Amino acid sequence: MLENIVILTGAGISAESGIPVFRSETGLWEEHKVDDVATPEGYERDPELVRNFYNTLRANLKKVAPNPAHLALAELQKKWKNGRVTIVTQNIDDLHERAGSVNILHMHGELLKQSCYRAHGGCGRVFDILEDQKETDQCPVCHRTGTLRPHIVWFGEMPLYMDQIANELRNADLFISIGTSGVVYPAAGFVSTARSYGVPTVEFNLEPSATKGYFDYGVYGKAGTTLPKFVSQLLESEGDFEKLAATLG
Ligand code: NAD
Repeated sequence: MLENIVILTGAGISAESGIPVFRSETGLWEEHKVDDVATPEGYERDPELVRNFYNTLRANLKKVAPNPAHLALAELQKKWKNGRVTIVTQNIDDLHERAGSVNILHMHGELLKQSCYRAHGGCGRVFDILEDQKETDQCPVCHRTGTLRPHIVWFGEMPLYMDQIANELRNADLFISIGTSGVVYPAAGFVSTARSYGVPTVEFNLEPSATKGYFDYGVYGKAGTTLPKFVSQLLESEGDFEKLAATLG
């Protein structure tokens, strides 16, 4: 009987909302080198460039809305009575929240948060931020100026909630991955961890990902189409995995 479900989401789930994926040919990520805007070293070199980059991504959130894939996961969380449904997301957008989801672990941080950077003498606290971040902003707790940074996990930094994620994977009965290329670790390794516990694994993507070999099932197509159908089948199965597996082919 399926009880606890862990769902890993990546940039692909937000693509149909109009947020470009990491390796797309359009969008802000393509105009910058990852080293410049997504590493602590890039921030040291040019904090203004990095602040502006995330200010733009944050401002763009106002132009987008959750799509049927985000809404399907929120519906699953509301209607699933067998156990917990945990969303582990690599996304820094807030579309799961706006779709009505709960129990979301933003392992790579959030655009709508900022933190007081310890490496710059800050207090380490995390705060909401809705508008642009400026160099002159002051930490509301330690009152230092110039210590606030985007609350984003950059390459070379430790992702957030790793203990909690490890615990959820250990207690999972089903692992689902949606819209992730399977090349950014440690998230790309969660499927093999789940498998090592004997947990059935399913991926949703436009095409097989780099970690396809670890998935028991693959559903290929736009998540906005495949996810609502899958969620209906999962709810209809009432936790009977054999019944669900028959619908996955
Ligand atoms: P990625 O860009 O490397 O891969 C996206 C994957 O989604 C691809 O495998 C692609 O085939 C698939 N995809 C694209 N459109 C899809 C659709 N409609 N339905 C189903 N699948 C679809 O993304 P990643 O694996 O999440 O890694 C990128 C990193 O960049 C993450 O760490 C994330 O923090 C960051 N990022 C976040 C956002 C966001 O918050 N929305 C956007 C871009 C990048």
